[in-house]
Amino acid sequence: MKVLVINAGSSSLKYQLIDMEDESVKAKGLCERIGIEGSKLTHKVPGKEDYVVEEAMPSHNEAIDLVLKALIDPEYGVVASADEIDAVGHRVLHGGAVYTESIKINDDVKKVIRECFDLGPLHNPANLMGIEACEKAMPGKSNVAVFDTAFGMSLEPYAYRYAIPEEYYDKYKIRRYGFHGTSHMFVSGETIRYANLPEGHQRVIVCHLGNGSSISASIGGKAVDTSMGLTPLEGLIMGTRSGDLDPAVVQFICDHENISVDEMLTILNKKSGVLALSGNLSSDFRDLASAAADGNEKAKLALDAFRHKVVKTIGGYLAVMDGADAIAFTGGIGENDCAMRESILKHFSYAGIKIDEEKNKVRGERAEISTPDSAIRVFVLPTNEELAIARETVRLS
Ligand code: ADP
Repeated sequence: MKVLVINAGSSSLKYQLIDMEDESVKAKGLCERIGIEGSKLTHKVPGKEDYVVEEAMPSHNEAIDLVLKALIDPEYGVVASADEIDAVGHRVLHGGAVYTESIKINDDVKKVIRECFDLGPLHNPANLMGIEACEKAMPGKSNVAVFDTAFGMSLEPYAYRYAIPEEYYDKYKIRRYGFHGTSHMFVSGETIRYANLPEGHQRVIVCHLGNGSSISASIGGKAVDTSMGLTPLEGLIMGTRSGDLDPAVVQFICDHENISVDEMLTILNKKSGVLALSGNLSSDFRDLASAAADGNEKAKLALDAFRHKVVKTIGGYLAVMDGADAIAFTGGIGENDCAMRESILKHFSYAGIKIDEEKNKVRGERAEISTPDSAIRVFVLPTNEELAIARETVRLS
């Protein structure tokens, strides 16, 4: 079975064609500048040079047509015709409080995705355009929506409700949803499998640390808590996002700087985080680590503050689950930044975590990095959201 995975953004569209026989990626690519002058498709097939098409893409319809053309191209293609694609899996940001898991798309599903435009204003409209473009270009194929919010839907009300007047929950479903859900679902499930954790011993903390960062606690693959909230702004300090802060900060700055709440939110999403703490040096942890090593105090502050919040969150989840059986690191930082991993885990000697310094040198591949006598096993486990979407698509097609 071959599954096309689509991640449609407002002006971009990423895709992968995965052969589910062996879960190998046959081709992948990116359409950029959809709806803007200078659109471009870059199509990659393992073992071949990149195939670049510079053609107008006024909408996602033309983008999908070009993707299909590239997939069946005599030289760069990987299938003889679009008929060989069995199903399409779509990454959808927000399923609101309606969808607790992935679902095969029909008119009712599209209606809910539309109703959630308010909750995911940057992503849901684009996700729907991607779905409708695929339906048009490949009529009759099964399309599956995999929601980034679904993993967080298993939280108990005491974990997802904000302590604000009930009417806002009743009227607008203002609650914590949690994002990166597809990654947390994949990594928690793979950790259970890879570590061979028996039933009853499947308390897993997943640290997805990248440009966007979040941590989840789950038992048997079901989330019990997650650090992002109504939007991906809540929780950890991130590359350019502030993470948690006293909401009164928003009012204070808006009043004193005479800016709107919208402008303030742009600042909190795009100009904050480690970028801001480092004095606008960089949001990239490699730059921050090398600057800190050269004695840059602001870079050091940014890294220390990031670590402090990660440690508090892991510690909180250890308390919530009365311990953990495994901790897994994923995302660009989680998979590659051995020094950050080690400095985070040093805070958990009280919980009996012991790290093997040699094994912790691993980058970007699966490995157990704790010692055999560690009370909690610790892993590096690269995330693969596309594969998670493809598996869900097979399951529901
Ligand atoms: P996104 O959230 O955009 O998917 P990624 O998960 O790709 O982000 O993470 C990107 C971040 O990973 C970069 O900003 C960088 O800080 C960090 N990173 C990647 N490689 C390394 C490395 N070798 N050492 C430290 N940090 C790294």
